[in-house]
Amino acid sequence: MTEKSPLKLLCVTAHPDDECFGFGGALMLAAERGIETSVLCFTDGQAATNRGTAATAAELGLMRRAEFAASCKILGVTRHEVLDYQDGQLEFANFSQAAALLVERIRADRPQVVLTFGGDGAGNTHADHCMVSFFTTAAFHWAAQAKRFPALGPTHTAQRLFHTTSSFFFPGRPSPLPAPWTVTLDVARVQHRKFEAFRAHTSQLPLMERFQSYFEKRVGQEHYVLAATPHPQPAAQMTDLFAGLIE
Ligand SMILES: [Zn+2]
Repeated sequence: MTEKSPLKLLCVTAHPDDECFGFGGALMLAAERGIETSVLCFTDGQAATNRGTAATAAELGLMRRAEFAASCKILGVTRHEVLDYQDGQLEFANFSQAAALLVERIRADRPQVVLTFGGDGAGNTHADHCMVSFFTTAAFHWAAQAKRFPALGPTHTAQRLFHTTSSFFFPGRPSPLPAPWTVTLDVARVQHRKFEAFRAHTSQLPLMERFQSYFEKRVGQEHYVLAATPHPQPAAQMTDLFAGLIE
């Protein structure tokens, strides 16, 4: 049994399967160290191209909620939740409300490390990914500011905001405009479980099959950029999201 760490990580995503595509290695490495990990996913993914055996959008949403839960279990996630935002529509959501929801969550749970997408929308440039990045980035800053949403609990200054960034582009897809990375995580040791988590997304297996050979060459590393901290500092290359934080 791993000794429990006082550190907490919050990961904010858009769709069931983002947690493993984007963040799976980071989540598993944190869990191995006894760090509490939470994944908050904005939509149930019912607008996906791959629809499995689902006859309706609502049915696909339910399937994908179950797949998300199974994937989070494999990734050792402590707490996971799917919100009720509409898949494919996050650019039209009320920005202030979405950010306030995250401010409230950050102030209540008090994570030191927050992970989300970059503004480029990640490998597939999905607008939902961009929006989750913007909501979460605003919430990271606003959770620390007493003047913002004073009714939503005492302020919390999280120590590090990381955005995922791309170190490669998918063939045959429009390329994102990624931020240069400041973090290289070696996740080769847990790569097999990352694939296991992918496979828990049964309805999305055609996507997996399409990119499997590509992934196999690339999933040994995850790249992030340190996007915000309370301490002014030059950019430095890191290999650990938690380096220097008290454990
Ligand atoms: Zn996604």
